[in-house]
Amino acid sequence: MDASVIVVGAGPAGLMLAGELRLGGVDVTVLEQLPARTGESRGLGFTARTMEVFDQRGILPAFGAIETSTQGHFGGRPVDFGVLEGAHYGVKAVPQSKTESVLEEWALRLGADLRRSHTVRALTDKGDHVVVEAEGPDGPQRLTARYVVGCDGGRSTVRKAAGFDFPGTSATREMFLADIRGCEITPRPIGETVPLGMVMSAPLGDGIDRIMSASGAPPPADAPRRPRTRRSPPRGSASPARTSRTRNRCGSAPSATRPGR
Ligand SMILES: Cc1cc2nc3c(=O)[nH]c(=O)nc-3n(C[C@H](O)[C@H](O)[C@H](O)COP(=O)(O)OP(=O)(O)OC[C@H]3O[C@@H](n4cnc5c(N)ncnc54)[C@H](O)[C@@H]3O)c2cc1C
Repeated sequence: MDASVIVVGAGPAGLMLAGELRLGGVDVTVLEQLPARTGESRGLGFTARTMEVFDQRGILPAFGAIETSTQGHFGGRPVDFGVLEGAHYGVKAVPQSKTESVLEEWALRLGADLRRSHTVRALTDKGDHVVVEAEGPDGPQRLTARYVVGCDGGRSTVRKAAGFDFPGTSATREMFLADIRGCEITPRPIGETVPLGMVMSAPLGDGIDRIMSASGAPPPADAPRRPRTRRSPPRGSASPARTSRTRNRCGSAPSATRPGR
């Protein structure tokens, strides 16, 4: 057996799970197709519950000075979490790339075996173990584990191979997102509904602002099904550091089109 548990995907979910398994004394291998972390900002911060868990695990200091807020939103409507008792609130303006780097370092320190440039292609359930077929840097590999966990995102290969359904509905709106450097933008951190849709903006630090907008109109039929991301990070100019066009999805997975928290 190569590992007790193989986790597929080194995003926030896979890295968190790998660390938790190591804390429980389980040997775990994480297979990740990307040769390096993307560095994309994506989710900006985390919820009060996540902050509580990070605190319990002792990894909160690794985020440095973090800004908390009692202000949240539900679909652009303000929600005041300050009325709830508790020591933790949502954390703002921490790019997902930072969260991933903290979680990766934590999981590796605890002994997780992270193998990058490994793309999982197929699984075979043998009853008492699972055979994982992956494409690694040196060619095809077969690994065995007692359990395999799919943390490989919304288009999960593991989910499809294991036969799990993913019911949902077609996209009903399209959202544009850009991280922009060099502009003065009024913060609208919880999003603002306007007659034509929703706009949101938040400072990310280092002179970069996140702006998002949704028109409320259905996406055009020829819109791409995958988020499109373009990076152009020249410093010192009012230029997009990163732009994306995403479509919302309804289902059990987190949508890429929520306004940042
Ligand atoms: C442009 C954009 C903006 C976003 N903004 C926000 C936001 O403001 N707020 C918010 O809460 N969320 C946001 N999200 C959503 C957020 O990024 C996701 O919810 C989050 O990344 C999900 O984490 P995860 O670990 O489940 O999956 P992922 O982060 O998708 O990680 C899955 C990992 O699995 C790997 N993988 C996939 N297939 C295989 C395979 N076959 N073999 C090996 N590895 C594989 C992938 O390379 C990836 O590293 C945004 C997403 C995008 C794309």
